[in-house]
Amino acid sequence: MKVLVVNHEEVKRYLPMSDCMEAMENALTLLNSGHAMNPLRNVLWLPDKAGLMAMMPASLSKPAVMGLKAISVFPGNSKTGFDSHQGVVMLFETRNGRLLAVIDATEVTAIRTAAVSGVATRLLAREDASELAILGAGTQARKHLEAMLEARHIKRVRVWNRSLENAERFAENTAGRYHLEVKAVASAREAAAAADIICTTTSAVEPVLAGGWIAPGTHINAVGACIPTARELDSEAVVNSKLYVDRRESTLAEAGDFIIPQKKGRLDAGHIIGEIGELLSGQITGRTGPDDITLFKSLGLAVEDVAAAQLLYSKLSETNGGIRVELNAKRGE
Ligand code: NDP
Repeated sequence: MKVLVVNHEEVKRYLPMSDCMEAMENALTLLNSGHAMNPLRNVLWLPDKAGLMAMMPASLSKPAVMGLKAISVFPGNSKTGFDSHQGVVMLFETRNGRLLAVIDATEVTAIRTAAVSGVATRLLAREDASELAILGAGTQARKHLEAMLEARHIKRVRVWNRSLENAERFAENTAGRYHLEVKAVASAREAAAAADIICTTTSAVEPVLAGGWIAPGTHINAVGACIPTARELDSEAVVNSKLYVDRRESTLAEAGDFIIPQKKGRLDAGHIIGEIGELLSGQITGRTGPDDITLFKSLGLAVEDVAAAQLLYSKLSETNGGIRVELNAKRGE
């Protein structure tokens, strides 16, 4: 049987943000109702800590598929021509365990992560939220702008980045592309103070966003810092927020934004109000008023990658896109 191979251009073409947001809602709802499995990821660090290899398996029951994302993360790549996340998502069927597709994971990761933040923003941000701050100017920053435009009617964007030059390039490129006011600013505080929605999308290991800068009513998507020893938000920012997560188990094991203030005694597991899947299912409440500060801590789940891969597989099977390679031999061949 032939295996579908999908490159990054095809992922971009066949996984538009709005479709991916719908697929992410579905995947997180299935996970919440026990119709998906998502063990904690296995992470192998290189001895010099320059990069890691993460292995992320998951399965879905509707439709029945399973898969594995194998992805390397090299934060230092932001200064090179290579993406910081590289790898593949492998999609398998669950009847005989045959491999169906091998898909570029750089693009899947970029889109599905922002799509989940888009879902969280739709659920948690104020309806009238229109001022966006983005901290960071890399891959996730770009995709988050796209997702925030899907989620709310954004009028103005302020972007802060470690290197102002990259923030200015980001502003120039995106303002033209989306016909939007996008301004590079010299401090994260300036970006945050005027925002209704803040997306933190950096590879920082120390806080880039302080609680004291966040106005009442803000919604925050905290996307970087996916290991226990790194964080983008200071303790006050997390303590002052109503905290929602993609998954409790992952947050308690992997999220420095939660684990560091927890170790300092500033909060405990009870501070997590719930998961996005619980919000989608109406099991918990979201924003209770215009002054709540809501925080979505994203870590990224394999179930999101498998759901995106399944959607791509079904679209490309209909259109005959991608290329097909003979890989699965029958017994005895
Ligand atoms: P990129 O390499 O494309 O961009 C990284 C950004 O972070 C750049 O703007 C870079 O600034 C900035 N940065 C790097 N180091 C620091 C630092 N020490 N302090 C402040 N800013 C810094 O990466 P991505 O956009 O792909 O990923 C961004 C973050 O999101 C990473 O932490 C990544 O692991 C995480 N991520 C999370 C996912 C999830 O599911 N939650 C999924 C994918 C990624 P400069 O331009 O100056 O280099």
